[in-house]
Formats: sequence, structure tokens, C-alpha cells
Amino acid sequence: MTAEPEQLGLPGMPRRLFTCTPTRLMTWLDCPRRYRFTYLDRPPPPKGPPWAHNSLGSSVHLALAGWHRLDARERSVEAAGRLLENVWLRDGFRDDEQAAAWKARARAMVMRYVDTLDPDEEPLGIERTVGMRTELLAVSGRIDRLDLRGGPDGDVLVVVDYKTGRRDLTSYDARSSLALALYAMAAGRTFRRQCLRVELHHVPSGEIVAHEHTLESLERHLGRAESIAAEAAAADAAYRSGLSDAESDAAFPPQVSSSCRYCDFVRRCPQGFAVHPPADPWAAVTVDGS
Ligand code: SF4
Repeated sequence: MTAEPEQLGLPGMPRRLFTCTPTRLMTWLDCPRRYRFTYLDRPPPPKGPPWAHNSLGSSVHLALAGWHRLDARERSVEAAGRLLENVWLRDGFRDDEQAAAWKARARAMVMRYVDTLDPDEEPLGIERTVGMRTELLAVSGRIDRLDLRGGPDGDVLVVVDYKTGRRDLTSYDARSSLALALYAMAAGRTFRRQCLRVELHHVPSGEIVAHEHTLESLERHLGRAESIAAEAAAADAAYRSGLSDAESDAAFPPQVSSSCRYCDFVRRCPQGFAVHPPADPWAAVTVDGS
């Protein structure tokens, strides 16, 4: 699929930027049908029930953000536990018993995690929105935490992304993440300071996987982002021009994979539903689904 002139500009005409988040780009890459459901169909099709793993992730992110917003003298391990209790989201768990057990686990995990932090260290940003433009796209997103750390050659910017899933992370996850690379570039431009280091912090285990980008590796990620954006922009233009149902299905093909089980729209997608019917809303937080 190639970019339509309307999106990317005819010679001599100003280009129309594709405005997006890294998530939008990745959604196009993962499944064009889900992209259409999420970003184009209006009114949007109803989603399935909320997911327990999203509740867990949001609760942990909220508690950690709240902890950093406290005065440094109040940033204790116990305060992190209280914050988690206060922001806990129960949606998606099977019943009160399961939700309570997970709240206790989440409380323990944020307390363990903040115990590894120096309360006196002030991040440069918490849930900080950053953005950047190129000739083709305007991308923005929210960084969980942006650190300014002292290094041998002066202070350096570090993008920190919290993870709460079961899966152990590898350095490949940090190196290959389009979102982290775009955040690093956008943070660098926002703060007029080079930002090459990205880190994934796996809150359940406390493990940190990091990658030190080079300017070249960031440029490669940006090129990939622009190429995805060109495809998505062309599909958006085709959608806006008016497509028959058959044409729309062809322009936004379903990408059936095991992740369909956790797709918000699997009940609206015959192809995904047939192969991977929806998981229980709490399935992703437990090994055996119980
Ligand atoms: S169920 Fe699968 S194929 Fe269908 S929209 Fe969702 S991710 Fe795409």
C-alpha cells in the first residue's frame, strides 16, 4: 500500500501531516481491521467488557505517578501502598475475591518497586506528554517517567516505561520498541538535549531492561514510523472518500493472531472470533485463568 497524494502532498504543495501516537502506528501494523474499529468507524463499535490486566496496569501506573508527585519527604514505601489502595481499579476481575487478591499483589509490587528508588531524586517528568514533527508526521505520546540522571559526561535524559505484564522482558523489547524510540526523540527535541537511553521497568519483578540508542538507530525507527504512517494515511484517505463494505474490508484486512483473544472488538470481527474466541476478562492476569 502506498501513500495517497492527498496525505503526503503533491509536489509544490504543503504536506499534510499524519497526526498520531505510537499506539496508533502499532495498531495499524498489528491489525488494520482493529485500526479501523479504533480510529475511523464513527460511532465507534462497542468494545467488549473491561480487562483485568488493564485495570492492574492502570492502577500500578497511577500509584507510581502519585508517589512521585508527593513531596519528597512523604515518598515512603507505605505511602506507595496507600496510593495503590486509593486508586485501585476493580474492573474485569472475576469476582471480589480475585480482585482483592490482585489488589494485595499490586500493593506489594509497587511497595517493592519504590523501595528501590531514591525518594530525593526528582524525575524531570511524570506522565509527561512529548511530541515531535517531521515532514510526514506529527507524533505525540505520554512517557511514564522521564529521568535526568548524572553521567560521566553530564546529565542525560532517560525514558522510563513501566510494565506490569507476566512476561519477562528482554533487551530486545527495549531495543525494538518503536514507541520508546519515538519518545526518546520527542523528549530530546522537547528538552533540547540528546536522549538515547530507554528503559523498561518490569514492576512485578523489579527487573530493568535498557537500551542505549545511537542517532542512527533512532533515525531507523523514525523511518519505520514514517513508512507505517504513510500506509495508514493512505488507508485513512480511502476510508474518508467512501468505501463499500467489501472495499472497506479489503482496505482494512483482519490480521488474525493469538492476540485476537484480547482484542476489544473480537465480538465484531467474524474472522478473529472464529479462530480465537474472546478470553475471559481476567485471563491475562493469571497463569491458569483462575
Ligand atoms: S479480532 Fe483479531 S483480526 Fe479481528 S480486529 Fe481484533 S485483532 Fe484484528
